[in-house]
Amino acid sequence: MQLWQYHCSRCATTAPLTTRAWRCSTCGAAWGLTHPTSTPVSVVSSPGEGTLWRYASVLPVPAANAISLGEGQTPLVAGELAGHPVWFKLDFLQPTGSFKDRGASVVVSHAKHLGVETLIVDSSGNAAAAFAAYCAAAGMTCHIFAPASTSSAKLAQTRAYGATITLVEGSREAAATAAQHAAEEPGTLYASHNWHPLFVEGTKTWLLETWEQLGRRMPAICFLPVGGGSLLAGAWRAAEDLGVVPPCLVAAQPAACAPLVQALVANAQEVTPVSPGPTLAEGARIGYPPRGQQLLTILRSSHGWAEAVTEVSLVAALRLLWRQGLFVEPTAALGAAAFCQVVARGIPLPDGPIVIVLTGSGLKAPDIVQTLLTEAQ
Ligand SMILES: [Zn+2]
Repeated sequence: MQLWQYHCSRCATTAPLTTRAWRCSTCGAAWGLTHPTSTPVSVVSSPGEGTLWRYASVLPVPAANAISLGEGQTPLVAGELAGHPVWFKLDFLQPTGSFKDRGASVVVSHAKHLGVETLIVDSSGNAAAAFAAYCAAAGMTCHIFAPASTSSAKLAQTRAYGATITLVEGSREAAATAAQHAAEEPGTLYASHNWHPLFVEGTKTWLLETWEQLGRRMPAICFLPVGGGSLLAGAWRAAEDLGVVPPCLVAAQPAACAPLVQALVANAQEVTPVSPGPTLAEGARIGYPPRGQQLLTILRSSHGWAEAVTEVSLVAALRLLWRQGLFVEPTAALGAAAFCQVVARGIPLPDGPIVIVLTGSGLKAPDIVQTLLTEAQ
């Protein structure tokens, strides 16, 4: 039986699951994971477990090693958008207020078991808070590298969990480079959510849950916010684990930073880096996602596409969600905004459940909420 193992999709280099190399040691590409070839009896290995660890049989970390704060098992609620019945996956109802807790729980559990003392992460938002929280729960040190332009409000939650924060002048990429250098120290592990393959194994549980909540069937189509793409890559992995046809997957990106949209329009096999423009969807300002090639393959294979969401659409969708009692931050409204744009263009929708994933709480962005409410008056 093939066991869990790192592999490079570009040059076929492999490494054991215990490696601390954060990318392929031969060619520098993002690691993928080879997963066990024998299908478990059930992906729901612990039906009584109320966290994502109910799916431990398809996770690369045993449940006995779990560092858990009660992540996963978020509600799937019926609602309406653009005159259509839809399902909202409330993934902003997680311990730190975003879907990133799914990946952070699995990566931190893995790192703790490896004996890592300090986790090194680059992020300016929800991933920083998620990793800081799970490191606190695990009794590990967390060192966050964030762009100097990051608002102090956004980092307050991370600081509250006890993480060390280093602000780096320049772009988001400059913060990543500084983090990668820091991770050369012994006892550390670089755990960027954009690079670490175990992060996706955690995020895939959103669709395993949705499949259960729909009575063990897949949605027909899903609209997801996509920056680094862990939600999208996770959806593909969930369908693989279940051995079913994946839903049509639509990646919603802000028009100001839409590298996947541009690559699909150009019919390209690789993503070309873009320079992110200003957008309220700051969580999706990733101009060059490390897993870009894989994300393009997933979108094409699922018969999906990438939708460029305008700022006008984003704000309109945000207000529609708020008025339904769904208090999300701007990045989290990308999927809803993409759906509204698709309906407005008259694009036919497949028969079956439509799922819109809501990824981050509105409590994360009080300044933006206040500004939008003032503008509306
Ligand atoms: Zn390689």
